[in-house]
Formats: sequence, C-alpha cells, structure tokens
Amino acid sequence: MSDRSRDLATAVAAVRSAARACRAVQERLVRPEALEKGDKSPVTVADFASQAIICAELERALPQDPVVGEEDAATLRHEAPLLKEVVECVAEQRDAVSSEQVLAWIDRGTADATARRYWTLDPIDGTKGFLRREQYAIALALLENGRVEIGVLGCPNLPLDGGLGALFTAVRGERTRMQSLWDPRAPARAVSVAALERADQARFCESVESGHSDQDESARIAEDLGIQSEPFRIDSQCKYAAVARNDASIYLRLPTRADYREKIWDHAAGSLVVECAGGRVTDADGAPLDFTRGATLADNRGIVATCGTIHEEVIAAVLRARG
Ligand code: AMP
Ligand code: MG
Repeated sequence: MSDRSRDLATAVAAVRSAARACRAVQERLVRPEALEKGDKSPVTVADFASQAIICAELERALPQDPVVGEEDAATLRHEAPLLKEVVECVAEQRDAVSSEQVLAWIDRGTADATARRYWTLDPIDGTKGFLRREQYAIALALLENGRVEIGVLGCPNLPLDGGLGALFTAVRGERTRMQSLWDPRAPARAVSVAALERADQARFCESVESGHSDQDESARIAEDLGIQSEPFRIDSQCKYAAVARNDASIYLRLPTRADYREKIWDHAAGSLVVECAGGRVTDADGAPLDFTRGATLADNRGIVATCGTIHEEVIAAVLRARG
C-alpha cells in the first residue's frame, strides 16, 4: 500500500467510525424539545466522542501525525455525567475504554497547526444541523507543507441512492469519490461539478445560520448574476459536497463581521472535495485559501466555491456587491 492509500484508508475508517457514533447519539438523544430548550448536550456528547474516535484511529495507524481538532477535553474533565456519556459512546464503537484514555484521545487533537504534516478535524461541523436532525458533517483533512492533500467528509444525513449517508473522499491529483457512509463494500463513484457556461443557470447554496454568512448580500449577488432560483440552505461542509456532486453550483459564504477568521477545519476537507470534483474555491476577493497561516485562514475573508467555469463571473459580482 502506498503512503497516500494508507493515509486515506486510515482517515476513511476513522470518519466512518465517528459517523456511526454521531448517528447513534442523534437517534437516541436528539429530541425536538431539546432544540426548543436550547439543550446542546446531545451534540456535545457526539462532538467529543467523534474527536476521541478519530484521534484514537489516527494514533493507532499514524502515531507521528499531529491533529489540529476543534475540541479539547478541558471542560469535560470536570463534568462527570457528560464524560460518562462520552465514554459510553466511544466504547460502543471500540472496546471498553477508560475515561482517562478518552480524555487523552480528545487532547491528542489539540496540536498547533505548525508541523510540516498534520491532520485537521471538525468532529461535528454544523452542530445546529445535528440538533435539527438535518445536515452535519465529520470533516478530516491532511495538510502537508500548507496544502490540503486529503479531504474526507462524512455526511450522515445527506441523501444517497434512496437512503441517507454519503462519504466523500478527495486526494490531490485524483477525482473526488462518493460512496455509502455506512457500507464499505458499496461501490464508490467519481463525482463532478456542474457543467455551466453562465452563472444565471446556477443554483447557489449558503449557511442556514444568518450569523455565519451575509444572506442579504448573497441575495443581491444572486440577483446581479441573474439567478432566479431560491438559495439552497444547508448546514456544515455538506455545502461543499453539494457543489462537488452538482446539487448546487455556487457556495457563497460572505463575512458577517470584518474580524471573523474562518477556521481551517471548517474548510480544508470540503475545499479539496470541490477542487478534485473539477470546481474552484477562493475567498470572497478571489484569492486562493491560504492554509499556511495556522489554525485560521488569517489572510482570507469569506469563501466562494463554484463549479469552476463561472468562478470569475461570480467573483466579479461579489466584488461589485461588496464595493
Ligand atoms: P455553517 O454550518 O456553514 O453555517 O458553518 C458552521 C461553522 O461556522 C461552525 O463550525 C463555526 O466554526 C463557523 N462560524 C461560527 N461563527 C461564524 C461567523 N461569524 N462567520 C462565519 N462562520 C462562523
Ligand atoms: Mg465547524
């Protein structure tokens, strides 16, 4: 097995296992009342369990590799009932395990984004979508020399072949592939972005959360581009998956605050999934995403992902709208 195939196989196994844990928590714990009460504990359990499972798998197969994850175990250490639930959730996917081991796995994901080679992980991207039982993603990417080399997105609620649950894998230089998230024997197929000549034929997607992306500005840009269809709003990096497989052809994420910096774990996996499906990803100024600046995209503002052919046209409209 080449190093790349070993890296990819490890990442895929880790994401599949974490996705099963997330799905189990969602089925068991997420009640509609929880959302109304603002009870975020189910997503917290799944978030920590997902990070523990993925870091455990990376540690086993690739012990030298640092992990830059979204979570750390500091608060969990002092919340015994929550920790117990996380440990039970991890144990369902692996053998019996101690609390200390689970905490240590979570804290394996707290490396700085400074190594030549490291993984970045969002154990549950789209926590609001998880609580609504809508879209969320488990996002894992390998970075080498400040470039994303592998991107894996597990999308447990994304429709595929009449069911739910899609896995997207991207390896730089190869075509993005999509397959069942749950059945490793199900065939993988290559996915491609839309083949559009003009942006007025495009369908665009954006965040559900109005605080994460300027929806009024997106609407103005869509109008400027002559797009008639309504935006397609979904949580998480499933938006990148949607562009990669041509459910949409534009993803707009326009800053709502000048001081917000996008996190690498929110974009590393998804951006490669789009690029390897034939699309393009830049920031809102049309600049490439710069993954050499640590845990944030410090030099970029906003995100624009498209099917590629219409990218310049979309960026021109974004620049007009933002003056
Ligand atoms: P989405 O589901 O696309 O709305 O993205 C969810 C991600 O948005 C979370 O993982 C956060 O890291 C990120 N986020 C939080 N606040 C902001 C903000 N003000 N602007 C953009 N993204 C944000
Ligand atoms: Mg996230």
